[in-house]
Amino acid sequence: MIWYPYAQMKTLPAPYKIINAEGVYLYTEDRKLIDSVSSWWSVIHGYKNPEMDQAIIAQVKKFSHVMLGGLTHQTALDLAEKLQTWLPGDLNYSFFSDSGSVAVEVALKMALQYYMNRSKKERNPAVALNNVHCAGSLDEMSRSQQERTMVLALEHAYHGDTFKAMEVGDDEDYHFVLEAYGKNRNIIHVPTEIDELEKAFAVYGERLNSFIVEPLLQGAGGMRMYDVSFLQRARELCDQYDVLLIFDEVATGFGRTGNRVVADLVLPDIIVLGKALTGGYIGHAVTVANRKVYHGFYDDDPSCALMHGPTFMGNALACSAALKSIELFEREDYLSKIKRIEEVTQREMEGFSDPRVKEVRIMGGCVCIEVHDPETLRGYQRFAYERGVFSRPFLKYLYAMVPYIITDEELVKVLMTMKEWFRR
Ligand SMILES: *Cc1c(COP(=O)(O)O)cnc(C)c1O
Repeated sequence: MIWYPYAQMKTLPAPYKIINAEGVYLYTEDRKLIDSVSSWWSVIHGYKNPEMDQAIIAQVKKFSHVMLGGLTHQTALDLAEKLQTWLPGDLNYSFFSDSGSVAVEVALKMALQYYMNRSKKERNPAVALNNVHCAGSLDEMSRSQQERTMVLALEHAYHGDTFKAMEVGDDEDYHFVLEAYGKNRNIIHVPTEIDELEKAFAVYGERLNSFIVEPLLQGAGGMRMYDVSFLQRARELCDQYDVLLIFDEVATGFGRTGNRVVADLVLPDIIVLGKALTGGYIGHAVTVANRKVYHGFYDDDPSCALMHGPTFMGNALACSAALKSIELFEREDYLSKIKRIEEVTQREMEGFSDPRVKEVRIMGGCVCIEVHDPETLRGYQRFAYERGVFSRPFLKYLYAMVPYIITDEELVKVLMTMKEWFRR
């Protein structure tokens, strides 16, 4: 049997069984539902998109997968090249993996090892110059490792469910298992407030290897939105204290905040993309490093290499889907579609209020109604189902992250259903 996600199996209500899906619609035996969460925010082009389907079929006919260990293939090369031109600045070096969590692990590992490699070279500049050998003595290694082993992250962060991702995350509702071994003293969490950020850098700046954030929009931690000025200050502080800035754009990438990627506004050293990367067709993710990070590993010495390699990294079907997904995003001018979604949402939510509602937040293709008491949302999923909308509120958050191909009418229906719940 299936063990379902984030669920107490004993009390889990039966999940809706989907027998077909097309456009923004999911079909059960007896219902046609607008998917207001885009299958965990990934299905941006809708289901059964003919061009996406075709991209996969064409690749299947060549081959579905070859490993990247000792082999390569044109579809992965094309995607890496596409990302290089599509992403801002010198975010040019793509490390593929099979899920967002793993891609976050890769980013954190890169940041840690970047400083290990560098301090080896700094301790022995002649060696670095000659590019012969970058491994220092064990003693030097342990000292350098102590220096920058800390990671700064945000309060309410969510970066995935693998262990290091859980640690940089900050949500007891997801990761209460971590209590078993206590808080990691190498991870510091700060709120999205500039003065708190400055304080954290003043205290820990010299020992941090990275600052990891979900930029502008914290998804699973409660659809929390914050201002770009925080990220601008973060960039300055990272430069000042020589700390790598990591944007986890697994959720925010591909337009969700109204920007292609938030990295268009503030340039990180490493960006992580996932979820919508393949238009929700196949699990895949990528950690893209800038030149500085890449060159921290580039050496004659094998001990400076990044020792990582997910079995399905660069999967051909996933790469083919991702290439088509980016092509559609550009060609069909998705940024204006998302702007339209934001405008319609603003218009529909204007004047909406209820004593049970704490706040309504809107950014790009995301709207969230935060309530005071999670009980307020109990029964909403069924309520929405009966009105032809699939929704999955969590904790105090009733939200929508619709596929970008949604029509105004369909979007209004999603929003009306949300508002109606409070009018009963
Ligand atoms: C979903 C998510 C992840 C994890 O991605 P998976 O593919 O589920 O492993 C990481 N970071 C953020 C911001 C996410 O929203």
